[in-house]
Parts: sequence; structure tokens; C-alpha cells
Amino acid sequence: MKLAAHWQILISLSLAVLLGLLIKTMGLQDSALFSWVIEISSLIGKLFMNLLKMIIVPLVISSVIAGIASLHGVKGFGRLLGKTAGFYATSSFLAIILGLTLVNLIQPGLSDGQPNAVVKEAFESYEPDAAAQAKIEGAKAAGDEQSGSYAQLSGFFLRMIPPNIFSAATNNLQMLGLIFFSLCFALAMTRLEKEKMTTLRDVFISFNDVMIVMTNYIMKLAPIGVFGLLLPVVVQTGGELFLSLGKYFITVLLALGLHMFLVMPLLIRLLAGVNPFAHFRAMRTALMTAFSTASSSATLPVTMRCIQDKAGVSKGTASFTLPLGATVNMDGTALYECVAVIFVAQVMGIEMTFAAQFMVVAAALLTSVGVAGIPSASLVAIFVILKNSGIPNAETAVVALLSVDRILDMSRTAVNVWGDSCAAVVVAKSEGENVLPNR
Ligand code: ASP
Repeated sequence: MKLAAHWQILISLSLAVLLGLLIKTMGLQDSALFSWVIEISSLIGKLFMNLLKMIIVPLVISSVIAGIASLHGVKGFGRLLGKTAGFYATSSFLAIILGLTLVNLIQPGLSDGQPNAVVKEAFESYEPDAAAQAKIEGAKAAGDEQSGSYAQLSGFFLRMIPPNIFSAATNNLQMLGLIFFSLCFALAMTRLEKEKMTTLRDVFISFNDVMIVMTNYIMKLAPIGVFGLLLPVVVQTGGELFLSLGKYFITVLLALGLHMFLVMPLLIRLLAGVNPFAHFRAMRTALMTAFSTASSSATLPVTMRCIQDKAGVSKGTASFTLPLGATVNMDGTALYECVAVIFVAQVMGIEMTFAAQFMVVAAALLTSVGVAGIPSASLVAIFVILKNSGIPNAETAVVALLSVDRILDMSRTAVNVWGDSCAAVVVAKSEGENVLPNR
């Protein structure tokens, strides 16, 4: 009997964690054999990520065009846009409020009501290595460019309407531009003579089907790929900071868990009568891929496949809600930004009034829309929010948080993908589609 894909991935994730912990606790990471094993693993992980990323551009273009062209014109499209945007805004807002509540209740940055001196000391004495330093410089520069609400807004529109569609595809995968171009193309296509339009649409539908077959091939390699991605993470992350940041970790993970397993299931149940367990089962492979890759964009092909093959959402709805969601809807990221910023403020001993916290909520909502679906992308947003909230000396804190970010990044990415998939089923249900039949 063949083991189902999600079990294979789960076993491989567990093996990577076990082996990683073993290597770490026995101090073998610097031995010739194990440094070679880790290097090969990371190469395998990168190749797997590359395979997934390789098909994103053709997948997004073909699915948006094929999907929108089958929606019967602008009216269907407008209705879908309204519902999707409404759901995304609601779920992100709920996520941030949950993060805000927990960070105020647990107060991970305080100890006995005072700023936690141990964490502050750990922040101040933390020395990043060259790679972390370079990452932080890049994030800071991007953060400076984007701070201010006008810059945020204009940046959003400039990314949405790029001057060159090819550079949008190659330059850090500016998905918003690709989606906009494909939407315009699909809407214009519906204006062609019927025969021309049907031929063209069939071409894109077949093209999209090929991408799905390619995704199936790539996912056959998933057990090896996720092992390769996770082993170096387990071996390399960590150190002393983990201990002093324990309460912060618990706050973020608890908030993410509650959002994923309580708030969203309730929302999809109440809004659309969707069975959350059945939906979770349908999406497990995508969620595990999101967790392993820490990239919602790289997971997109798998999310698309699960939502159509397992959850029964139509191509039209899936191809509109998911590519858009992978780039603009990030519940986990929005929640995380809010917790991280207030945590840093607590550690720095800065009193955040209700108004100041409200500004953080608004900024988290806005910036999460602009965060790219790639690992550690929210760092830029955190810089922007800290800068706008006038929290001083926060740079070292953010650098220190980066050193333990990967596990939280993996978890929030899974929540991001889960949020997108929930929107897809709710919108599909409201369009009368036969979602999750017999479950
Ligand atoms: N890694 C996240 C994603 O791809 C973004 C982030 O929060 O850094 O969804």
C-alpha cells in the first residue's frame, strides 16, 4: 500500500527534526561528514524550492487568464473581487486583534511588570553574522523607502501597474503586477469574436493543466525536498536567544494556533457552512509545504492543486482568490508584525497608549498587503512600523529576532496559506459551487 503524500511529508519532516536535534546535541555539525550532509541537504532543499518557484509565473498567468475568461464577463469578476477583498480584510483584521490581545495579556517583553532586562541585554549584545547583517541592511533600505502611509499606498499601486511585465516576473516575483496584467488580458480577451476567444481560452486552459501536471511531478519529490529544507534549519537555528525569547515564542505560536484552529474554522463554518475538518484534510499537503518552505508564493502551485482537486473549488474561483491571496492576504504575517512590534516596545520600556496600539494595528493591516510571499519578508514591514511608531534603537532588536525567525516564519506562512484557502472555499460556496462534496 502506498502511503498518502501528506504522511510521507510528515514523516520526512519528523526525520529531519530528529536528525537535526541529534546532530546538534552531539555537537557533530562541524564534523566533515555531517557538514557535508547539511550542505547536500540544503542544496536539495534549494532545488526543491526552485522547482516550485519555476512554475509560479506561467501558473499564475495561465490560471488567472483561464479562470477569469470563464467567469462570463466583468460582472462576475466584480462580484468575486468584492467578496474576496471583504473576506481578506476581515480575516487579517481578526488575526491582528488576536495578536494584539495576546501580546497585551501575556506581556512577553515584561518581567514582573518591568521591561525584561535579560531580553534587553540579549538584544543589545547580539552580534549578527555577515549574512544576517546583509539581510538587515536590505530590509532597512526597503523599509526607509516604504515608510509613511503615502509611500505605502503609492508603492502598492506602482507594484500593481509595473512598467515592464517581464521585469515584474523576474524582479522578486512582483505577483501583483502579473495578476493585474493577466486580469486585463483576460477581460480584453472576452471582447474578441467568439471563435477567437474560445480558441485562445482553450489554449490557456490546456497550458494551465500542464502546469498542474508539473506540480504533481514536483510534489512527488516533496518528501526529499522538505527534508532538505528542514535539516539545516534545525541544525543552524537556535542558541541562547531561544531561551530568553521563550515567552515571545509562546505568544506568537499561541496566537497563530488560535487563529488557524479556532477563529478561521468558526468563520468558514458560520459564513459558508464549510466543514473545517474536511477543509483542513483537503489542504494538509499545501499547509505542510508552506511550513517547510516558509514561502506562500512557492507554495502557490500546491495550494492551487489542493483547492481544486481536493476541496472541489472551480478553476475560476481558485485562480482569482489564491494568486491574489498569496500576495496580499497574510493573516499570520499581520498577526506576527503586531506581536513583534509591541513586544519590542515592551522590552524597550516604551509605554504604548491605546492610540499608539491602534496605529500599529492599522500599519500591520496595511503593510501585510505589501509583504512578499517569501521567507522573512515581514522584516521590512516590521522596520516600517517601528520607524512610524517612533520606537528608538529597535534595529538591534529586529536583528536579534531575525536569528530565531525561521520557525515562526514557517508557522506564519502556514497560517497565511490557510487563510487564502479559507477565502477560496467561502467565496466558492457563496457562488453556489459544490465545495467539499460528501464530507
Ligand atoms: N514567509 C511569509 C510568507 O511567505 C512572509 C513573512 O511573513 O515573512 O507568507
